[in-house]
Amino acid sequence: MIVWCFVRSIVLHQSTTDDRLAKIALNQKLEPTLQNVAFYSKNGWPAKCQLSPLERSFYDVCVEIGEENGLLMRGLRVIIPSNMRKDVLNRIHAGHQGITKCRARAKDHVWWPGVGQEIQDMVKTCEKCIENQPLKHEPLIPNDFPERPWQKVGMDLFHYEGSEYSVVVDYFSQFIEVVRLTKLSLEAVVDHCKAIFARHGIPDIVISDNGPQFRPSTTSAFTKFASEVGFRHITSSPKHPQSNGQAEAAVKIVKNLMKKNKDPVLALMEYQTTPLANGLSPAELLFGRKIRTMVPCT
Ligand SMILES: [Zn+2]
Repeated sequence: MIVWCFVRSIVLHQSTTDDRLAKIALNQKLEPTLQNVAFYSKNGWPAKCQLSPLERSFYDVCVEIGEENGLLMRGLRVIIPSNMRKDVLNRIHAGHQGITKCRARAKDHVWWPGVGQEIQDMVKTCEKCIENQPLKHEPLIPNDFPERPWQKVGMDLFHYEGSEYSVVVDYFSQFIEVVRLTKLSLEAVVDHCKAIFARHGIPDIVISDNGPQFRPSTTSAFTKFASEVGFRHITSSPKHPQSNGQAEAAVKIVKNLMKKNKDPVLALMEYQTTPLANGLSPAELLFGRKIRTMVPCT
């Protein structure tokens, strides 16, 4: 009885419950593949190689297939005959929910070979869903975790109490370099980069926001600098400025240190030597050693 309630909730209009179940049962009996599947489920399945390609798609779940009240089922799920699948798909997607939710709806109630893929295809091509798609996060920036220190760095500029600062942060170690710019110009930014690269080497990738200083163009001195010394410059997408998240997080950290500490430089050293969630500090991850700080250690 539980099965019937499940089936009704998804397959049927309330007013036509038994009619539709009867229609499913009838169409099951009219479909040759399903006739054979029903026969095998009663009398035993032949070897897989003896089955037709369509029958084979039932073979892997054959132990779950059986008849109940004249309906061919896979476990608790009604096997929907081919000519009714389109209609059932529309019912599953009636609320225009996403693929996962539609699959979950089908999962307890109906089944046929490839139903999961068909749900996915339907949702992906549904005009209403496409029209109302929320803005997707653009996978524009390869934000996967780097393999080694100083392979990928983020860069950002910020303003604090009348001065301009430039921040560079290593994605691997979260080690932060910060400097006050004497003036807010591209040359100053490039000079800052050079000084940092002299200490740590040239990274493979520099990620920055899409600010005017960094906008890639043939005339941009930053682009010229990138090709000159040999790193890839990626700007975060205009629609998703948060993709430069690492640098923005570093700016927040530095600003906080400036607000809270009389000597933000020494405070920054404390940050660099404080263990991250992985148990190692930025300095350890970048240099491969602990650096000596004001905190006594052996
Ligand atoms: Zn839809």
